[in-house]
Amino acid sequence: MLFVAFLAAVLWGIGALMRVPHAARFYMLGLLFVIVLALQIILPDGHPLREATGGSPALWLMIAGGVVLGLLYRLGWQQLKRRAEAIETARAENAPVQPTGPFSDEELERYARQITLPDIGGGGQRALKEARVLVVGAGGIGSPVLLYLAGAGVGRLGIIDPDTVALSNLHRQVIHTDDNQGMPKVFSAQQAVKALNPHVDLRPYHRALTPEIAETLFNDYDLILDGTDTYQARAMVGRAATATGRPVIAGAISAWEGQVTIYDPADGAPCFACLFPKAPSPDMAATCSQTGVIGALPGVIGTMMAVETIKHITGAGQGLRGRMLIYDALHAETRNVRVARRADCTVCGDI
Ligand SMILES: [Zn+2]
Repeated sequence: MLFVAFLAAVLWGIGALMRVPHAARFYMLGLLFVIVLALQIILPDGHPLREATGGSPALWLMIAGGVVLGLLYRLGWQQLKRRAEAIETARAENAPVQPTGPFSDEELERYARQITLPDIGGGGQRALKEARVLVVGAGGIGSPVLLYLAGAGVGRLGIIDPDTVALSNLHRQVIHTDDNQGMPKVFSAQQAVKALNPHVDLRPYHRALTPEIAETLFNDYDLILDGTDTYQARAMVGRAATATGRPVIAGAISAWEGQVTIYDPADGAPCFACLFPKAPSPDMAATCSQTGVIGALPGVIGTMMAVETIKHITGAGQGLRGRMLIYDALHAETRNVRVARRADCTVCGDI
C-alpha cells in the first residue's frame, strides 16, 4: 500500500516538475492503478511484489469504487451549478431554457444561491422539496421558521395553531400583518407563505394540538418544530414525537434569553422530558404575555431553528444533537451546553 502511495506521489511530483497538465497526471495515476490491479490478479498469493502492492485486489477495487462515487457526486453537483448559472445567463439574455429534473426553471432560479452551496447542492434541494415539516405554533418563533423554510423550498409545511392574530402579537410575529388582525393565525401565515413561495404545499390546522390528535398528525410529517410557549404544550409535543419516532427541533424564549436544541431519543439525543421532567412552579412558568419579550428575540431563535432544520434535512454540517445552544440577548453572548438522555426518563426511558 505505502509503496504504491509512494510511487503515486513520485509520479505526481515528476509531473508537477515537468509542468504536465493535471489531466495527464491523473491518467498516469490511472495507469499505475491498472498495473497494480493486474499484479494483484496475475501474481500468486504471497508473492513479494503482490504483498508490497496491497496483497488483495478487493482493497483496490473498493478504493476505485470510492473514487468513482466521489467523481459522480462532483459531476452531478457541477451540472446543477452550471444549470443554475445557465438560467441566470438566459434570464439576463431573455432566452428560454429547457426544464430539467424535478425542478422547473423558475424553481432552479429561485433556489440558485442555495443549490450553489456544496453542502446543499441538487441532492439537498431535492431533500428539501421532499421534506414534510410540521410547525407547532404560528407565533413569534413560528413566524421566521415558516418564512425561511418556505423560502428554502421545503415541500410540505404543516402549521397548527388555535389562535387569531391580535394587535399585541405584531411586534414579534412578523408573518402576520396589521390587516389580518382577527384572522386565524394559520390562515394569515398561509397567505404570507403562498405570497413568498407558491411551490410550498402549506397545510393549515386551525385548532389546538391535543394528545388525541398529536400522534396521527405527527405521522404525516418527518420532522416537528416546536414553537409553543407553555410547559404543557412542549411536554405533549415531546411525548407524541417520542411515540412516533419523530425528531423535534425546539426553540424557547423567556424575556431576554432563548435556547435551541433537537430532541430525538430514537437517535441518541434526549427527549424534552429527559431535560425537563417536571413542570416548573407557576411563578417560573410565565409566558411572553406575562414577562414581556423583545420582538427580535423569537426572530433570532426561530431563524436558528430554520437553519438547523435545513441542515437536518440536507445533512449539512453538524446539528445540535446532544447540545443546547443558549443565546443571552441582553449580554450578546451564546454558549453551548451538553444535554443527554436520562435512563430513568418516563417518556423515552424504554425505547
Ligand atoms: Zn427522555
